[in-house]
Amino acid sequence: MEVVNLPAVSRVAVCGGTHGNELSGVYLVRELQKKKKGGADDVSVTMVISNPRAVQQCRRYVETDLNRCFTAATLSAPVSDKTPYEMVRAQELNALLGPKGADEAADLLCDLHNTTSNMGLCIFSPVACDWICMQIYRHLQREMPSWPVKYLSFERPAAEAFSLDSVGKHGLTIEIGPQPHGVVRADIFNAMKEGVRLMLDWIQKFNSGVLFDGGEVEVYTMGKNMDYPRDEETHSITATIHPQLQDRDFCLLHPGDPLFLTFSGKTVTYKGTEPLYPVFVNECAYYEKGIALYLARRKTVAVPSIQVKRD
Ligand SMILES: [Zn+2]
Repeated sequence: MEVVNLPAVSRVAVCGGTHGNELSGVYLVRELQKKKKGGADDVSVTMVISNPRAVQQCRRYVETDLNRCFTAATLSAPVSDKTPYEMVRAQELNALLGPKGADEAADLLCDLHNTTSNMGLCIFSPVACDWICMQIYRHLQREMPSWPVKYLSFERPAAEAFSLDSVGKHGLTIEIGPQPHGVVRADIFNAMKEGVRLMLDWIQKFNSGVLFDGGEVEVYTMGKNMDYPRDEETHSITATIHPQLQDRDFCLLHPGDPLFLTFSGKTVTYKGTEPLYPVFVNECAYYEKGIALYLARRKTVAVPSIQVKRD
């Protein structure tokens, strides 16, 4: 199989607290900041608390969701006294870790998140096919056999990506759950710690010239989202996720399967025409966004063998 040569991953940023109440990343970044200044060998690692005000208040955000502020348009928008804090902070982070799309941007930006959904350890990439991220994903899958490790991506152009991870040349979000927001659990924290350690371990190996064999990987692509049933007048929700769907992220949902259970006790079934994979089922932070779950597709992607490009 042909080997794809890619530039070394020399400058890495690890960010936590992009959402201020997702505590695994907050405490892990603080821990790593204590232990390690600068990084080892030929990799420099910058640790950043992305949204310090939200972290201080243990809220997702103060004025607007920071992890939706990294589109080219928002990053270049003029700033005034009325600009929400997170939009200003997004521009600061872009100056520190980017600029997005520029040569000076971090080679890899890893952003740490928690979900209240039962998703295990997910690696999210803001773009469709990123061989570095997919090889890191394979490394975690091999090395963390006791954890379900999944890979999710958005199929959209990089310029439209709105998340912090899109500021790096390669972007990767580690999303782990279930963990309630505002809570830190040892099992979830340790899985994130191990995931970050393995990612940095992979980068060291890659930079030193190790050849990573290609192969097929399973990838989930984010599809449409679904809202809860709502009262037409008050817009208040009238149902919750059905008990048969709760905690069943990544379990195939077929047409006719139970989706919601109304507060009056009626089952609402999935009316779609094709079976799809539910993700972010009953995520706490998505109630305000009108999202009860996302429906993802699964596909197989052939990842090439990769090796560092030598000058
Ligand atoms: Zn988050």
